[in-house]
Amino acid sequence: MVKTQEKVLPGTKLASIEEFEGGQGTYTRDDSVRALLLGRAQYDIKARKVTIQPVKTRSMIPSQGDSVTGTVEVAHSSMLSLRIQSVNGKDSAAGFTGLLLLGGQRGRGKRPIIGKYSDVIRATVVSNRNGIIQLALKGKDDGVLLAICSSCGSKVSRHGTRIKCSFCGLLEERGLSPDFAA
Ligand SMILES: [Zn+2]
Repeated sequence: MVKTQEKVLPGTKLASIEEFEGGQGTYTRDDSVRALLLGRAQYDIKARKVTIQPVKTRSMIPSQGDSVTGTVEVAHSSMLSLRIQSVNGKDSAAGFTGLLLLGGQRGRGKRPIIGKYSDVIRATVVSNRNGIIQLALKGKDDGVLLAICSSCGSKVSRHGTRIKCSFCGLLEERGLSPDFAA
């Protein structure tokens, strides 16, 4: 008979050493058996042994064609660095960083402003070579999903192809997704 306890954090007391012997994924301290890893505690009642089955945290690195959303952490004129929050609609807690290259300077024209710091952007993975997740706005729904006014931090709403601050009235350029929330 095995009793299971879901999601045990490292360091959690699982049992006293008189009750259970600590097996795989556990350690003993001060007469108690504790979890060494994040995982599922399995108490083998008959054998009086407790083990931890590690949670599978091995997140697959997003790969070509995956749709991701992320928050802009660094905005340069040539690229945005995004902290990826979801991959193909599923939350990703792995903290991957993706780079959205904004392309070379075209002629003398201004490079379009795709996104700014703290924007949430949906993008498509074009490569993960050498562990570098390269993103592009390739999908028809890609682009900025959420933004705030970069001047005063207030709510903005869509204003044609741009966004307009509800407080200070600033109009800003963004590469908006059709799903832009406003
Ligand atoms: Zn504003």
